[in-house]
Amino acid sequence: MELGFEGPPKGGDRITMGGEGRLLVPANPIIGFIEGDGVGPDIWAASKPVFEAAVEKAFKGARRVHWWEIPAGEKSFRNHGDYLPEHTFQSIRSAVVVIKGPLTTPVGGGFRSLNVTLRQKLDLYACVRPVRYIPGTPAPVLRPEDVDMVIFRENTEDVYAGIEWKSGSADAGALIGFLQDRFGIEVDPASGIGVKPMSPNASKRLVRRAITHALEKGRKRVTLVHKGNIMKFTEGAFRDWGYELAREEFADKVVFETEVAEKYAGRVPEGKILVNDRIADAMFQQVLLRPKEYEVLALPNLNGDYLSDALAAQVGGLGMAPGANMSDTCALFEATHGSAPKYAGLDKVNPGSMLLSGAMMFEHMGWNEAADLIVRGLSVAIQAGIVTYDLARLMPGAREVSCSGFGAAVIEKML
Ligand code: NAD
Repeated sequence: MELGFEGPPKGGDRITMGGEGRLLVPANPIIGFIEGDGVGPDIWAASKPVFEAAVEKAFKGARRVHWWEIPAGEKSFRNHGDYLPEHTFQSIRSAVVVIKGPLTTPVGGGFRSLNVTLRQKLDLYACVRPVRYIPGTPAPVLRPEDVDMVIFRENTEDVYAGIEWKSGSADAGALIGFLQDRFGIEVDPASGIGVKPMSPNASKRLVRRAITHALEKGRKRVTLVHKGNIMKFTEGAFRDWGYELAREEFADKVVFETEVAEKYAGRVPEGKILVNDRIADAMFQQVLLRPKEYEVLALPNLNGDYLSDALAAQVGGLGMAPGANMSDTCALFEATHGSAPKYAGLDKVNPGSMLLSGAMMFEHMGWNEAADLIVRGLSVAIQAGIVTYDLARLMPGAREVSCSGFGAAVIEKML
């Protein structure tokens, strides 16, 4: 242990990985937490008691979480002189399950973003965002309850890989020259240039994870969303690799749209999962017009980013959307909003995103009873009109409470 860094708490036991990617969760697991910057400490202070109350209520003392604080962000910089010390990566790997608040991107700290660095160094290749309607939340569509989807967004490749050169730079010029000399491709010499890499390995592991999730959770449809009609060798290849993976590894468990039409009279046979695909722009229409037809979505990075936020907004929960970034060996659950520095320390913002990410975390651990209590408590509180300022301004007659006040209301409403 490096000097000044806290090891895992003494009382708890480690969560470990069993065979076939299964988690082995003891009754007194150590769970890592990163408080985060800005409003991070506010939402963590409001959420931790909710998590503990849910576990206590669900398991009557038979299970208990032991929290392990892992340094990251501004607090880590103050204490250790480093926003993301090497020790932090080791601790996250060793904790296996970690929940985090938002991290402010340091200005001039040499980081593109702390979150991107965490994702890249820990190979957290799947960004998972469940989107469902919490009754009572003000939503912009007529039937937000028709949305119940889980998005699997590829997290490491695509135009987000950070391979780009500034307009007018020598490197951009060199690449433009190469494209001209080698391929005869004319690009405006003043262009900025970005590269969009997408590989069979990264695409397939993402789709594998989406199909596995559908099988484990009893979902019936997995949709590959892509822009393959235009970008044939990246987005189109993502679709092709997705189907290939489904055929190679899940042949006895999946069917495809053409088979359903030709062999099964348009009905998905009992016990099988339908794997289909949609063009990304059409998908933005589909989720609004026919949301009930979609359950698990697998997308490349950029499209996944857009659709995650569009769907979260559709159910009124952009400020409450839960999420996780996962590798094959560890999972980082996180509030999906930023650190909202102007509200830091005011005990004001909505802790909903952190609370629902915690519910997602307990589900991941197989502690469904605790997860259900959090979702129920939150839902009943919102239906009773007890909400933070962001929702209060959209809900006439609502009772506005503080961040910690909302946490307390969730505990009170866990039935
Ligand atoms: P932001 O999400 O922090 O804030 C935008 C606005 O959204 C806030 O001013 C506030 O009005 C509202 N808001 C955010 N969270 C809220 C909550 N829980 N309850 C109620 N209202 C809420 O986005 P930003 O201003 O673009 O980013 C601020 C910092 O956060 C930046 O440094 C950015 O890099 C970082 N960031 C971190 C993450 C992450 O850690 N996952 C994500 C996005 C941004």
